[in-house]
Amino acid sequence: MPKTDYTPWYVLPQGKCQLSDFDTKPPAEGQASAKEFEEHLADMGEKLDKLQSTLHAAKTRGLLVVFQGMDTAGKDGVIRSVFTHVSPLGVRAEAFGVPTDLESRHDFLWRIHAKAPARGEMVIFNRSHYEDVLVTRVRGLIDEETCQQRYNHILHFESLLQDAGITVLKCYLHISKSEQKKRLQARLDDPRKHWKLQPSDFDDRDVWPEFTRAYEEALSATSTPESPWYVVPADSKPYRDSFVAGLIVQTLENMKLKTPKPTFDLSKVKLS
Ligand code: AMP
Ligand code: MG
Repeated sequence: MPKTDYTPWYVLPQGKCQLSDFDTKPPAEGQASAKEFEEHLADMGEKLDKLQSTLHAAKTRGLLVVFQGMDTAGKDGVIRSVFTHVSPLGVRAEAFGVPTDLESRHDFLWRIHAKAPARGEMVIFNRSHYEDVLVTRVRGLIDEETCQQRYNHILHFESLLQDAGITVLKCYLHISKSEQKKRLQARLDDPRKHWKLQPSDFDDRDVWPEFTRAYEEALSATSTPESPWYVVPADSKPYRDSFVAGLIVQTLENMKLKTPKPTFDLSKVKLS
């Protein structure tokens, strides 16, 4: 079961993150039965639901949870499992694909800022502004100088959100190349999953080391104590889901949210 101390998976700011230092499999103490994981996830889901209702009621803070990872790392899956217990009121999921013609004529944060949470909201990003320093870098669509500029823009953007009361929590779902092979094969074998496959999934797999390097650099350049990156072991789906649910609960608990006081004197209310 994931522990409540997530520091071993926190990416040190301005450090030299090496993804090979992080296991894709759960640590020894993370071994548990399917039933135990289910119970932990249900427990975290209940807490998440209560915390999110307070976030929604108080409207003093917001939360943006960013999910990044190689294809099949489990971005869709973790969103489905972790947020099933949460009321859709005040929660929004946004996915980012290849920019449209209009989007690509704007600065890269334009479409992202438009979908950022307001205070009172929890927003989940399935891919994000990080694609603009990852796939673009690997595919040679931007040069080194532009990439460095974008890291700075990202740091300033996330700091702007933080100053507005919005915390940004970033999860890199870390899978091994062999686990990806199994998951891609499972998609090829199941006609109901064919819609999920794109030619880029296979092209991106062929440049795995280049993606790994781009992730390592981006995570090191943009992890901060206020907007941290965590490397989530994601080869095991139940462990991944429990880990992420616990991390979000902890982030919301740290906000010390308070239910707002009534705006009028309730003792004077007389029900007819
Ligand atoms: P999926 O998340 O599987 O639906 O795939 C979305 C695709 O859009 C992935 O191949 C991403 O790499 C790609 N994508 C997302 N954002 C960008 C971006 N800013 N520039 C180029 N490609 C992107
Ligand atoms: Mg995909």
